[in-house]
Amino acid sequence: MTEPLIFEISSPGRVGASLPDLDVPEAEIPAEWVRDDLPLPEVAEVDVARHYVRLSQMNYAVDVGFYPLGSCTMKYNPKINEVATRLPGFAMVHPLQDPDTVQGAMALMYELQRYLAEIAGFAAVSLQPAAGAHGELTGVLIMRKYQQERGEAQRTKILVPDSAHGTNPASTAMSGLQVVEIPSDERGNVDLEALKAYLDDTVVGLMLTNPNTLGLFDEHLLEVTRLVHEAGGLVYADGANFNAILGICKPGEMGFDVMHYNLHKTFSTPHGGGGPGSGPVGVREDLAAYLPGPIVDRVVGEDGPGYVWKMPEHSIGRVKSFWGNFGVMVRAYTYIRMLGAEGLRATAENAVINANYLQARLKGTYPVPYGDRTCMHEFVAQGEIEGAPDVRALDICKRLMDYGFHPPTMYFPLIVHEALMIEPTETESRDTLDAFADAMLKIAEEARTNPELLHEAPHSTPVRRLDEVRAARHPVLRYRSRA
Ligand SMILES: *Cc1c(COP(=O)(O)O)cnc(C)c1O
Repeated sequence: MTEPLIFEISSPGRVGASLPDLDVPEAEIPAEWVRDDLPLPEVAEVDVARHYVRLSQMNYAVDVGFYPLGSCTMKYNPKINEVATRLPGFAMVHPLQDPDTVQGAMALMYELQRYLAEIAGFAAVSLQPAAGAHGELTGVLIMRKYQQERGEAQRTKILVPDSAHGTNPASTAMSGLQVVEIPSDERGNVDLEALKAYLDDTVVGLMLTNPNTLGLFDEHLLEVTRLVHEAGGLVYADGANFNAILGICKPGEMGFDVMHYNLHKTFSTPHGGGGPGSGPVGVREDLAAYLPGPIVDRVVGEDGPGYVWKMPEHSIGRVKSFWGNFGVMVRAYTYIRMLGAEGLRATAENAVINANYLQARLKGTYPVPYGDRTCMHEFVAQGEIEGAPDVRALDICKRLMDYGFHPPTMYFPLIVHEALMIEPTETESRDTLDAFADAMLKIAEEARTNPELLHEAPHSTPVRRLDEVRAARHPVLRYRSRA
């Protein structure tokens, strides 16, 4: 820490609020309700403002600088989204209100369901799941219920490639099904021979991220989905990487039967601080009846069109209290309406160009295992620099912080040694990409000439290198006074 952050700023008698004189009779409060052992801070308004602004300055955010955190799609979030979300008709509604009084909010949800279905090529969408991982669980439950009702309860396995995000096996396991890992081939695709070997009548289906977590579009995708269908299985798309193909191709037309969307990634919501997300699930026609509900339906009555809550006929049930994370839906809806069809396509095109530009600038210095292929919206390099044997991906990431950049995702996907997964997103200018590439090249030079500089990085941040294992194993989640 450059300067210790002072939390104890309370000073007896200092106040931050001025209340008017009492103009009603003083109430009697039962003595047992009154506590005087509560050490509330006594501070002025200026103390509070400075305290929180100071804390915010110790943090890094997408509104501060470049945030190439692979897989997470940390794009800039347009501020118009926030304006829309704060409109009183959206911000002030209560989930228990009578549907007649929230028709505008329901119209937005209905249209968002239709837009998402159209963009990805599905017949129907449920907005209930709260995030991508939750969408995965939902999708797997849909696939299983569909097959059970067709008398195929013996199907108990989900195939998951070895490049998959950790949530894929986790959500599958949570659904009670068995995870079977399948290898990738030497070009980063699903290994077709391995896939064939696993496909039989015990397989519920395949869960596939495309483009995958190596940033590669599977070159045999249509063959993969055909093989799974021939074996009576279903194909689930982890849609976290949808940003790469928006407006260009539709998963629903490539053989995917179910997909989740990460609204907070692809459709721009500030995320990463543990705030709300949204992971709607889209399905093909004959799976629509299994979606979790309630979903919004449009009906035309005597007084014209209106919106009602509807539970799909064979629904797996509710997966979320009330109606899902509505604020995230308003942001996604605004984002889609602001961009339109052409804007969405340009989003994907620019995301892909930006990633290829960075890959081209870095791959002579940082090995890129599948670097002979054109990447999609991200690529995976390796933190293994020639002439710097002691330097690891971790050191490079820590040193990047000194240059004012958020580090890329590291050590994922697991199949790449010392992985640095870089996703610039479409919202970055060429200047920013160049500044980042320059910093990465400079760090490689430092790694050769002065590795200690990297081992001890970061040097300029409010806190230096943390014991991350201890932080994860023994988190301190409550403020404790040092006094
Ligand atoms: C982010 C991500 C997920 C999980 O999504 P959450 O919204 O964080 O739950 C799953 N798969 C991939 C590839 C991801 O990048």
